[in-house]
Amino acid sequence: MKRAEEFINHKEIMASLADAKEKAKDLAYVNSILDKCETCTVLSHREAAVLLECEDKTIRERMRTVANKIKQSIYGNRIVLFAPLYLSNYCVNNCKYCGFQHCNEKLPRRKLTQEEIRREAIALQDMGHKRLALEVGEDDVNCPLEYVLESIKTLYSIKHKNGAIRRVNVNIAATTVENYRRLKEAGIGTYILFQETYHKPTYEAMHPSGPKSNYAYHTEAMDRAMQGGIDDVGVGALFGLYDYKYETIALIMHAEHLEEEFGVGPHTISVPRLKPASGVTLENYPYLVDDESFKKLVTVLRLSVPYTGMIISTRETKEMRNELLHVGISQISAGSCTGIGGYAEENRTEEDTAQFELGDHRDMDQVLTELIEDGYIPSFCTACYREGRTGERFMQLAKAGQIHNVCQPNALITLKEFLTDYGSERARAAGEKLFARELERIGNEKVKEKTKEYLKKIENGERDFRF
Ligand code: SF4
Ligand code: SF4
Repeated sequence: MKRAEEFINHKEIMASLADAKEKAKDLAYVNSILDKCETCTVLSHREAAVLLECEDKTIRERMRTVANKIKQSIYGNRIVLFAPLYLSNYCVNNCKYCGFQHCNEKLPRRKLTQEEIRREAIALQDMGHKRLALEVGEDDVNCPLEYVLESIKTLYSIKHKNGAIRRVNVNIAATTVENYRRLKEAGIGTYILFQETYHKPTYEAMHPSGPKSNYAYHTEAMDRAMQGGIDDVGVGALFGLYDYKYETIALIMHAEHLEEEFGVGPHTISVPRLKPASGVTLENYPYLVDDESFKKLVTVLRLSVPYTGMIISTRETKEMRNELLHVGISQISAGSCTGIGGYAEENRTEEDTAQFELGDHRDMDQVLTELIEDGYIPSFCTACYREGRTGERFMQLAKAGQIHNVCQPNALITLKEFLTDYGSERARAAGEKLFARELERIGNEKVKEKTKEYLKKIENGERDFRF
């Protein structure tokens, strides 16, 4: 198996970017790459570099148009919603950009008890959430794997009113194959781990101490996760630590490596941008990504890895999130709290215990209603993982263009659940118009009739249907 510095090959990234500078001037060539994108072909990192380097206005406009086309043909106008759930902010690492870093003495440290997790699960269910991303700092003493496993069990076990947490994705520190196997057995959805930066010298400077300082161990984590049987993995880079072009090409190389070794690329790519946090200002970060470059890199990722879902968090403002939805984002968090225990507490205390500052403070109902009014279908679907459509099986369906046939009805079913149980009047009114329009877009008559039947049953109190 290739090692970290072989599959994230620094020389190759630099050569790709240098070569792309020349090639990007040949507009006929750039257009030929975009012709490939029109058919949802996966690009090589060399081709992606050319798109990244191209500054021609007409081409940039075409890039946006084609990215939107890909988004429409694979993901339709559906946007999957989820919430992060922070369990513990104890951490032995000292990542310089993170409010949870060990040496941040100002931060009150907290870890939720199982009873508190129960309360968080109920509060999240009352908001309408079905999908969570669990977040913990790295600390084997205060937050061992056993605690994470027990917490997952607790979250899946709570059934409050008509609510349920149906998919728990997990973001924990790089660990062993054996531990990944245990996470898989606990029924996790996606295993998420951000590389932060693929540029080794920057990585080492940003992570001066603690287990995370080992670049190779961290970079090879997804290989171990796959060896442990987890076939849905979510990668990401923290944009702003190093040159965004370098990180974008490295992300694509990481995807190429996973595809080559395991036959399946990452399930999702996250694109967080560096934000201020407790004890962290942005003064000493020369590579912060401006809005235009950020939109460009998201567009290039969408064009390059069409079958990989793309996630944006509430770090970004409403305006930026809306623009990125247009060029490729397929999942967003909503109503998020990045502090410990913030969902259940009356007066949210996230400012005290949060990992970073939020850019979008709208509540769940607001986010959802505005998505509907903008023509999107908010979805709480968790069907694939529960039907065993993961890893290669999922990718085969996605690449054959068939996943769309289940995503669309599942989105409508789960949205109906939300509106019936938690929706405001405004959300319900917007939802009714959406159902009238979107049911007609289901091509298969049998599926359309079945979906209508499920929607009726939901009105009559039944829950949890799926294709
Ligand atoms: Fe700890 Fe993760 Fe924050 Fe690093 S990024 S300090 S590992 S919580
Ligand atoms: Fe995701 Fe599968 Fe649901 Fe589509 S059907 S939204 S791919 S879980």
